[in-house]
Amino acid sequence: MSFQEQRPITEAARSHVRETVRQWLGVRKDDALHVPEMPDNLARLFLRCEEWEIDSRDQWGNFEHGLADNTRRRTLWIPEVDEWVNSIRATLPPKVQTEPLWPNGHKFALCLSHDVDAISTQYSALQLHRLKRRELLAKSVLTGADRSFLAAFESESSRLESLRPSERPSSAVESMDRSIQIEKDFGIKGSYFFPIWPPKVDSPYDCLYTADDQYTYLGRVMTARDIMLELAAEGFDVGLHGGYHTALSLENFLHEKHLIEDETGLSITTTRQHWLHWDARVTPRIQFQAGITADSTLGYNRNIGFRAGTSKPYFFYDVGTDEQLDLVELPMVLMDGSVFSTMALELDLPRAKQIAFDLIDRIIETGGCASLLFHPENLANPATYSLYRECTAYCIEKGAWGASLKQIENWWRDRTAKLNAQSPSTEH
Ligand SMILES: [Zn+2]
Repeated sequence: MSFQEQRPITEAARSHVRETVRQWLGVRKDDALHVPEMPDNLARLFLRCEEWEIDSRDQWGNFEHGLADNTRRRTLWIPEVDEWVNSIRATLPPKVQTEPLWPNGHKFALCLSHDVDAISTQYSALQLHRLKRRELLAKSVLTGADRSFLAAFESESSRLESLRPSERPSSAVESMDRSIQIEKDFGIKGSYFFPIWPPKVDSPYDCLYTADDQYTYLGRVMTARDIMLELAAEGFDVGLHGGYHTALSLENFLHEKHLIEDETGLSITTTRQHWLHWDARVTPRIQFQAGITADSTLGYNRNIGFRAGTSKPYFFYDVGTDEQLDLVELPMVLMDGSVFSTMALELDLPRAKQIAFDLIDRIIETGGCASLLFHPENLANPATYSLYRECTAYCIEKGAWGASLKQIENWWRDRTAKLNAQSPSTEH
């Protein structure tokens, strides 16, 4: 029995589900093969209907796992949609030609991604200054000293900037350096999502560095801007980590996207929302309207697993306007914070590894993508570092295609175009 009023699944949404299933199976669009309809409960899970039907959100404005139907059914850690697609795949006649899910014979994929909330574990004097301002803005009652601090904020920022050349840059040795080294060791170029300061609207949650802030990165003194440019030049995917207030406002989103593009000269097309502040009803459309072509926010802060029942990429469907967006969504299945934080599962390392490997095994069985999020600054913690390294090693040992969100998006778009093209046999 359902206690929540359910919207009917429209014919357009059903058709999107049908098309997505054919894409996952790798069946050409013009192949006359009949593919069974996805059962309603799975179609609703995949389309995220409940996120339109339930208005409740947590204290950060997020739809959390406790509200989800697959949590109630105790299947959040099971890729139910992918398992159903596998059961259909097993019934396909042997003569049906299907496109492989992943390139070069890989049976599954591994997407390494990083929200660079901080480049270093240390704050510079300027960042501490910005932090104090942020804390004061969150206070309900300000003292005279608080007001004086805020009034003098800009002039004090300029003074601190003039002192910067004599300041020791913050060290990235335990954070970004470690993150890059793991990827270099495994020959993978992951995604690095960078925030940019200042946001258009202040939030107590936002990150605090600008493109000019300085670090020692891989033994050299570099600005945040130079680090982004070097990563992009080396073939890493550099995307936007949009601040808290970008999730619900196109204006705020565009402000940050343009700011990071102006600061770096890069064209930014991939993203993950900071704090996973993402509302299915609003955020994907904002991202699409801002020129973003791939997102990997769809996961939970306080749990791991399969928010949409799948780990595979797909084109996002906006249930509110009843149309597909030209936006590739790659669900994020595991984040460091969800595993270790006291706000979430709070696991110890042995149990974290066991649960992560179980999750990866289910992704391997269903040919999906293990999209993992590890924050560079958290790699200073030995347990987080160990979990990241061992999950990566496990996936590679099992034959994963290690890639960034951008590489997966490109592969998915090319593969979809191929499936949608008229097949040679039907051309005249
Ligand atoms: Zn973040």
